Amino acid sequence: MPEGESTYRSGAALRTALIGRPLRRFDAPGLFGPTPTIGRLVERVESHGKDLQIVWDDGIVLHTRVRLNGSWHLYRTGERWRKPNDQMRVAVEVPGWVAVCFNAATIETYREFDPVRHPGLGRLAPDLSIATDAELAECIRRMFSYADEACPIAEVLLDQHVVCGIGNVYRSEVLWACELSPFGAVSALSLEDCTQVINAATRLLRTNLDRVYRGAPPEISGGLAVYGRNGTRCARCGDTVQARRVGQFERLLYFCPGCQVRHQPLVEPPTDPAARQMDPHPAATMFNAGLPWRRDSISG
Ligand SMILES: [Zn+2]
Repeated sequence: MPEGESTYRSGAALRTALIGRPLRRFDAPGLFGPTPTIGRLVERVESHGKDLQIVWDDGIVLHTRVRLNGSWHLYRTGERWRKPNDQMRVAVEVPGWVAVCFNAATIETYREFDPVRHPGLGRLAPDLSIATDAELAECIRRMFSYADEACPIAEVLLDQHVVCGIGNVYRSEVLWACELSPFGAVSALSLEDCTQVINAATRLLRTNLDRVYRGAPPEISGGLAVYGRNGTRCARCGDTVQARRVGQFERLLYFCPGCQVRHQPLVEPPTDPAARQMDPHPAATMFNAGLPWRRDSISG
């Protein structure tokens, strides 16, 4: 087996099981370092050789490195583990799945360096998961009067001077829910638009956190409209969901070009070739194969 192959396979399986799902349990005996908060969503799973990283949307990164006798396993909830419990170094549970790393050589967690998520200067905006009505109004006001008028809406949603707690997964979902183009300039938004965005984000965040705390399956699990679903059909308009890496930190943005057209700029940003290298959602391969224009291009 080539170096890193087993980790790559684990990465692909973990990506499908974990991305977009909220954390139910995080167990890492003897770990020093910050731990992800229960209820936060898995934003990315990345594997490089023997290293594997899981990144939550609050910016916490779990980094593991496995040597010859170490491995990541993926189990259905309640399924019997194929290695003894005392070899477990970290377990990450989301609704439906438990990812377990056995005998890792390295386990560490840290906060991703990210001046947008953790701005060093200025007062942080209210956190949507706990904000009062007055604080929500303050978020709306900050978005409506955003100083950098040309800044795309998608970037403003991650600016923690405007609003805290949305994260990369909910950002894509909120923009889809509001039928907004992620690339539209923030100055194009009316006060009603800003109110709709903040309300949608608050509802999505709180509904799912509530359900996780009550032990119920979160609505968002498996029900994400666009995040992680590049190449699949949009539930609203039937167009194909796209993914792009955008902004200074190249975060993944998922959107539907068919129905997210409100405040769409006249000139679209160029397509990033990196987006084409990303794994499509598992359902996408089947869906793409069935598209009439794909069949035409193959036969012709
Ligand atoms: Zn659509």
